[in-house]
Amino acid sequence: MDISIVIPLFNEEESLPELTSWIERVMSENGFSYEIIFVNDGSTDKSQEVIRSLASANPNIHSIAFSRNYGKSPALNVGFGKACGDVIITMDADLQDSPDEIPELYRMIVGEGYDLVSGWKKKRYDPLSKTIPTKLFNATARKVSGIKNLHDFNCGLKAYRNDVVKHIEVYGDMHRYIPYLAKNAGYTKIGEKVVQHQARKYGHTKFGLDRFVNGYLDLATLWFQSRFGVKPMHLFGLLGSAMFVIGFLAVCAVLILKIVSICSSTFAFYVTNSVYFYLSLACMIMGLQFFLTGFIGELITRNSPERNNYLIAEEF
Ligand code: UDP
Ligand code: MG
Repeated sequence: MDISIVIPLFNEEESLPELTSWIERVMSENGFSYEIIFVNDGSTDKSQEVIRSLASANPNIHSIAFSRNYGKSPALNVGFGKACGDVIITMDADLQDSPDEIPELYRMIVGEGYDLVSGWKKKRYDPLSKTIPTKLFNATARKVSGIKNLHDFNCGLKAYRNDVVKHIEVYGDMHRYIPYLAKNAGYTKIGEKVVQHQARKYGHTKFGLDRFVNGYLDLATLWFQSRFGVKPMHLFGLLGSAMFVIGFLAVCAVLILKIVSICSSTFAFYVTNSVYFYLSLACMIMGLQFFLTGFIGELITRNSPERNNYLIAEEF
């Protein structure tokens, strides 16, 4: 099969018939063998009935329906597990992404050998409250991930080689960072294609402004995982040692001040009056905590079943 189209959706009943017939038209014009996998993320409207009736008219349509709303990332993850095509295309269900982009995305994966091609909504039809923070967000993601050629990490329209989606796990809200997940899994040929974007025709966006806060926290998590995921002691040991050295120097300062005050006056000052005393206490306790966090982290990674999973490029 040439293409699997994975579509996560949450309450998108109005868009589904139009989206499906648009995809069907593009697929038959290009002669692709395909499947559409609708992952219904716990919709409370009539989306599932609509999907059922669409599937009864087209055997290429499949569906997985969650019993409740888990989020876009779990929906994508489950869709990836089921997808059988050589190339996997993901797109949003709200008609903001255009199926007309699919043939070129397919060609870039199959013809140019990309592992992943991400859409770039160069001209966006979203409110300013979304487009401006998104620019900042993408600039940070580029810097942290080291994927310098991507302008739009969170574009719903993306294409993957089949084995890429089988080797990444999209969880939580990590759909924003799939290129980073793919890079961490060893897939570094990541391309970009400018894609058409439409304003939302029906319904409303499912994400609020908290997306930006959560987005940054997730980026910090991924950065930590990719740098120190299997060697947490390298980070926490360094921090712990640094704190301990600062604490030790502060103790020395307290000691020296005490000796000086004993030698130079009849009334020696109390160590509890010295700022260095509290500094040494705080630093030593924090240093110890960092160290212990590092040890616990090491024990946890030691037990991780994936600690020795490596993506082999070639073997004789
Ligand atoms: N979506 C989903 N589960 C959710 C939220 C969203 O499957 O919990 C789907 C949604 O139906 C749409 C896609 O993810 O197909 C993108 O969502 P949306 O259009 O609301 O995001 P935006 O375009 O505003 O970034
Ligand atoms: Mg949308």
